[in-house]
Amino acid sequence: MKKRIALIAHDGKKAEMVGFVKDHLEILSRMDLVATGTTGGYVEQTGLQVNKKLSGPNGGDAQIAAMAAEDLLDGILFFRDPLGKHPHEPDVQMLMRICDVHNVPIATNPATAKLILEALADD
Ligand code: PGA
Repeated sequence: MKKRIALIAHDGKKAEMVGFVKDHLEILSRMDLVATGTTGGYVEQTGLQVNKKLSGPNGGDAQIAAMAAEDLLDGILFFRDPLGKHPHEPDVQMLMRICDVHNVPIATNPATAKLILEALADD
């Protein structure tokens, strides 16, 4: 079965997310991708197909959390900006909590994202 991965990047981390996706294009092209709206738009520009949810502040993180709660995700790559303030911080906390409840791997930085992605690719 194809692995299903969610991609989310805060504004201060979107460029890093695009770079990460370009560095892992081959692995990601074999997976089903879902993303928050704006992040998804950037990822699409690399040529990958992405199921785009709402933008994060409009509920996109909550939609991805709902997928995690239903065990529809194999992993989440969430590049958080630790230096920014986010209007949807409660949703971010909720997403992390749901991942812990359902034991869904979630990476909050590129180093961990690389480890999760490579492990899923070999799985
Ligand atoms: P965005 O949402 O990809 O729509 O910008 C990301 C976020 O800030 O959670």
